[in-house]
Amino acid sequence: MLDIQKIRADFPILSQTVNGKPLVYFDNGATSQKPQIVIDAEVKYYQEINANIHRGVHTLSQLATDAYEISRGKVKEHINAKHAHEVLFTSGTTHGINLVTNGFASILKPGDEVIVSSLEHHSNIVPWQMLCEKTGATLKVIPMNENGELILEEFDKLLSEKTKVVTVNHISNALGIINPIKYIIDKAHAVGSAVLIDGAQAVPHLKPNVQELDCDFYAFSGHKMCGPTGTGILYGKEEWLNKLPPYQGGGEMIKEVTFEKTTYADLPHKFEAGTPNIAGGIVLGTAIDYLNNIGFENIQEYEHELLEYATKRLLEIEGLRIYGTGKNKASVVSFNIDGIHPYDIGSIIDKLGIAVRTGHHCAQPIMNFFCIPGTIRASFSFYNTKEEIDQMVEAVKKAQTMLS
Ligand SMILES: *Cc1c(COP(=O)(O)O)cnc(C)c1O
Repeated sequence: MLDIQKIRADFPILSQTVNGKPLVYFDNGATSQKPQIVIDAEVKYYQEINANIHRGVHTLSQLATDAYEISRGKVKEHINAKHAHEVLFTSGTTHGINLVTNGFASILKPGDEVIVSSLEHHSNIVPWQMLCEKTGATLKVIPMNENGELILEEFDKLLSEKTKVVTVNHISNALGIINPIKYIIDKAHAVGSAVLIDGAQAVPHLKPNVQELDCDFYAFSGHKMCGPTGTGILYGKEEWLNKLPPYQGGGEMIKEVTFEKTTYADLPHKFEAGTPNIAGGIVLGTAIDYLNNIGFENIQEYEHELLEYATKRLLEIEGLRIYGTGKNKASVVSFNIDGIHPYDIGSIIDKLGIAVRTGHHCAQPIMNFFCIPGTIRASFSFYNTKEEIDQMVEAVKKAQTMLS
């Protein structure tokens, strides 16, 4: 069993007070907090080895390059990629998805189809819409049911030889639903389509195995998994990364430049133009080590307990409705109270030290589906406790009394 008090001591921000109350941080779906070991690693990089990578023959440049590439290797192991050069450093999930959609602009033709799901974050909708506008391809949407689950029979019907890309998130940020991505990947491959998985909400809770999943692309952010902001990973299968053109031109991504013709560097450098977030990339490796030391099985088991407890306690509140009632869920509870705007609840409980997200969670189509302006979303991490959930429930009850 996890020693939660010991784990909490790793996160300096958790001992803060906010508005005079102890902080209860339930906005982990937006970004996670950082353990001291991650904060220290960032400082240590700048104190000891800061230099540009892949460029200098001097010692510091080599040390920085080695540390950056060791971190890439850690990510490769963590997600079980076949090759380290299939692991691209990005600034986050959004960057990774745009890198792929930009590449597909030279592949898709009018009449081709792209399938997204109705559960997507705007980051995994808008770039595909832009791609379709550019190429004349058509965007199709997998519908969902009242429980927030994708309707797989409808997905099956959307698939055809016109399908060129299917994209879906591993876990929905707005509802916490875990999607049946293996089914989706296999079905898409059967018609010859590529598949991109948006793993932004999955990586804080589980260890994706990209070879077993057999996805073509898997994008995620570092900052939701205890790493620094401005870091992320795009995994891509070698054959796809070789097929796609570079996203950005610049230093680092070339083999040879003349004014007549430029040849591109080998993977992964072809997709890593310019000086990256070197410190961030290195420290992302530290964050992954930290999570693996706690253990994803332990994390999942404990977070599931928190999910069940929060669901039960919240449903004691009269007029409270939870959105995303499907069976397979991560530790996210999205809810509303009859007749009260989510923003009003969020503001009142913030005064009581409780940080939740209110609004559409960058997933307006989901809110439109339920005909609501937004929800209150409490997203739990392994450093949260049942006592904190009790505090939130009491605060929500207080807000309900004040507002009705
Ligand atoms: C947070 C999130 C994104 C966007 O991640 P960034 O770090 O903002 O690029 C995309 N998809 C999902 C499901 C998310 O939760």
